[in-house]
Formats: sequence, structure tokens, C-alpha cells
Amino acid sequence: MQEESRSDCGCSCGGEGGEAGAEKRLGWHEYFMSVAHLISRRATCTRGHIGAVIVRDHNILSTGYNGAPSGLPHCNETTCRIYRSTHPDGTVEENCVNTIHAEINAIAMAAKHGVSIGEADIYITSSPCIHCLKVLINVGIKTIYYDKPYKIEHIDELLRLSGIRLVQVSPGANPTA
Ligand SMILES: [Zn+2]
Ligand SMILES: [Zn+2]
Repeated sequence: MQEESRSDCGCSCGGEGGEAGAEKRLGWHEYFMSVAHLISRRATCTRGHIGAVIVRDHNILSTGYNGAPSGLPHCNETTCRIYRSTHPDGTVEENCVNTIHAEINAIAMAAKHGVSIGEADIYITSSPCIHCLKVLINVGIKTIYYDKPYKIEHIDELLRLSGIRLVQVSPGANPTA
């Protein structure tokens, strides 16, 4: 038996302070948002690809992407079925009737596998629609981190009344919040 030398950490990095140690390490926000973007590549609705990651204490609890319910035909195998709805402010929104949104799928997977997600945060590649936001509030999500804005004006009032936080995060930059 012999003691490991201080500089030999057992991996290929060359030890603490080695050449590879100078590589830029991903920050937590960048890390989880990058995971959300990767997950979005599993999405099947041709209307848009969204990924969601539910996180507590830097630990991934559940993930989801938008697509048809399990076992049903996906939009990329058949076709999207679009319906229109009118928001109270008069703007018309189009959605796909086949699809479950990414954040709802992440919540569904947590429920299916018995994972508690109260007091967690969520990373989503787009800000949530008003319907998903209502569910995120009831789940007890504390902060929603998003990359691309989606009809933020529709959720302004709900954000203000609920106190849930909405923070923009790009995969390449950390927020100040
Ligand atoms: Zn679709
Ligand atoms: Zn939604």
C-alpha cells in the first residue's frame, strides 16, 4: 500500500492546476439549461421543440419534452393538429392538440416515479404558457429559468400574484439573479 501523491487525482486531468484545469467549467445555470436544450431534441411536435429539467439542490429530479402521450402517434409521424384560442387581451394563440407540454411531462414523470418536486426549480428552453405556469405554481416550483421568451405578457399578472420567480438564462451566460 502506498499513499497517493498529492498531484495524482487518478483521472487524466494532470492533477490540480494542470493544463486541463484551466478549461472553463460550466456554471450551474449553464449546465442545467444546456441539459434542457439537449432534452428538447427528443421532442416530436413539429410546432416547436421544448425541453424541461426539474432541479433541487443541484440535482436533476425529472425531465420532459413536448410530445404525444406514451404509445400514441407523434406529430412527426402523422401531423400536428392545430387549434386556435383567443386570449382575453384579444391575441390569438395556436397550439397542437396532440401534444403535452415539456414542463407537464416533467411533472408527470416525477409523479409516475414517486419523486417529490415541491420547492424545486425548473429550467425550460422557453418560458411557460399560462396553462403550464398554473400547474408549476401548484407544484410549488420556486424559480422558473427559461431561455427564449414565449408570450411573457400573458403570464405577467399570474407571476405577480403568485410570487413564483421567472429568470432568463441563456446556455452561454449566467444570470445575476
Ligand atoms: Zn404537434
Ligand atoms: Zn405550456
